Amino acid sequence: MQEQLLTWYAASGRSLPWRATRDPYAILVSEVMAQQTQVDRVVPRWQRWLERWPTVGSLAAAGPADVIAEWQGLGYNRRALNLHRAAQHVAAHGWPHDLTELPGVGRYTADAVACFALGADVLPVDVNVRRIQERTGAAFTSAAAQALMDLGATVCLARIPRCEICPLAAACPSRGRRYEPLRKQSAFEGSFRQRRSRALRAVLAGEDPQDEEAVAALTRDGLVHVSGDSISLPA
Ligand code: SF4
Repeated sequence: MQEQLLTWYAASGRSLPWRATRDPYAILVSEVMAQQTQVDRVVPRWQRWLERWPTVGSLAAAGPADVIAEWQGLGYNRRALNLHRAAQHVAAHGWPHDLTELPGVGRYTADAVACFALGADVLPVDVNVRRIQERTGAAFTSAAAQALMDLGATVCLARIPRCEICPLAAACPSRGRRYEPLRKQSAFEGSFRQRRSRALRAVLAGEDPQDEEAVAALTRDGLVHVSGDSISLPA
């Protein structure tokens, strides 16, 4: 199956800019951005980020307020702070042997950086990759990592897989099956997440957020700093 998958990938794989680099910092930024944001939205933001902070040292030296401001629009702002802290850790101590020691870096992200940047023989398993493993019952190696991600994102979809165009269909025991809708992601509109996001935008614009609860949550996460009546981004 892996051979068929790699042939398909050579012809139909997505062209993503971070696939042209082996720089662990650039790849870490792409992986953190893509954790909860769609890939097509990530591409221009990743390019802009790398233009502004091309090295781990330049990000480490940036102020957290600039990092939070640059992250706006990607959502889940804690990722920006974690990425900044991770850069500071690497700038001070080098890349740790165990990448999960970096703030915001879990097993998948650590494996993705190890595989795509450092050439480690480890297959990063995200939801897409796990789905294909389960449906096909096949064992794939790290050489198939990018191909699996693309197959999962474009062909072997969660609910209605496109088996009719799948390169693995001939040998796949799940071919033609349909799946129950996934649990719906809770709506952003009207959510507390939206209030937090609005409050943070107000602070960025130098306005009063007028939402104590949201400001308290942002403060707990280190995204804003409250001193008396003044609310500001962390220095
Ligand atoms: S044949 Fe269908 S279920 Fe099997 S891997 Fe391809 S898209 Fe997924």
